[in-house]
Amino acid sequence: MNAPLLEVEDLVKDYGLPRERLFQAPGKVHALRGVSFAIQAGRSLGVVGESGSGKSTLARLVMALDAPTSGRVRLLGRDLHALPREELRVARRDFQMVFQDPYGSLDPRQTVERIVSEPLAAQGAPRDEQHRRAREAVEAVGLRANDLRKYPHEFSGGQRQRIAIARALVTRPRLIVADEPVSALDVSVQAQVLNLMQDLQAEFGITYMLISHDLAVVQHLCDDVAVLWQGRIVEQGPPERLFAQPRHEYTRTLVEAVPEPEPPRPGPLATPFQSRG
Ligand code: ADP
Ligand code: MG
Repeated sequence: MNAPLLEVEDLVKDYGLPRERLFQAPGKVHALRGVSFAIQAGRSLGVVGESGSGKSTLARLVMALDAPTSGRVRLLGRDLHALPREELRVARRDFQMVFQDPYGSLDPRQTVERIVSEPLAAQGAPRDEQHRRAREAVEAVGLRANDLRKYPHEFSGGQRQRIAIARALVTRPRLIVADEPVSALDVSVQAQVLNLMQDLQAEFGITYMLISHDLAVVQHLCDDVAVLWQGRIVEQGPPERLFAQPRHEYTRTLVEAVPEPEPPRPGPLATPFQSRG
C-alpha cells in the first residue's frame, strides 16, 4: 500500500488553565490524550464525538494552527510541526480548512474574490492567477463568476459555506479538514453542502477529514469513522460496521441519535400502474 497522505501519531494536547489558588499548581485540560490515525489519499475520515471531546483541537493541530504538546502530524511525508516557518507557509497550499460558522469565518468587509483568493495571495501567487483560480473555485462550488464582486452578507448560510469551500479549494489542496461544516446550516441545506463536498472529491481527488458531533453527517461521505471520546479514539471503522456493531458505549449513543432512514419515496416512475408490471 502507498504511504498515507496524512499520518497522525500519538498526538497529545494539554491546555494550561489559569492558576486558581496561589500555592497550587495550575490545572490542565487534557484535550487530546494520544491520538493516532492515518488517511490514504482520496479517502475520507470522519471524526465524531461530543462537544469537548477534542475534535476542534485535533483539527487545529492537523492544520498546524497550534502546536501539540507531543506527537506528530505527517502530511505527504513531512512532519508539519517540525517544518521551518517558511517551508510550512509553502506547504499550506496542500491542506486547507473549512470552519463551522459560515458567518464568523468570512470577513464581512472583504469581497468574495478577496476571501476566496486569500490562500493564494498568502502563497505569493500573481494577481491574474489569483483571479483565474478564484473564478474556477466559485464555479466549482456552484456559484457564479459575478458573485466574486459581492460581500458575504449578500449570501445565505449555505452559499457562505460554498464560499468557504471555494476558498479551501483555491490552492488545489490534497487535504481539506472540515470542522462541523454543516452544523450551523438548516437540515435541508446540509445535504446539499455534503453532496457538493462529495462531488468535489470525485472531481479533484481531495482527501477529507470531516469532523462532526453527528454520525449521520459523516456516514455518507466517509469510508472510515473515528469516534473521539475524552481526547481518545475509542473506536474506528467503516460507518456500516459502527452502525451494525458499535463496540464502545459512546458509539452506541451516537448510533441511537441517528434517525432511522425514511423509506424511499416512490419516484415518478414508481406509479402503481407501472409497478404492477
Ligand atoms: P470539541 O471541538 O470536540 O468540542 P475542543 O477541541 O474544542 O472539543 O475542546 C476539547 C477540550 O479542550 C475542552 O475541554 C475544551 O474546553 C478545552 N479547550 C479547547 N481549547 C482550549 C483553550 N484554548 N484553552 C483551554 N482549554 C481549551
Ligand atoms: Mg469543536
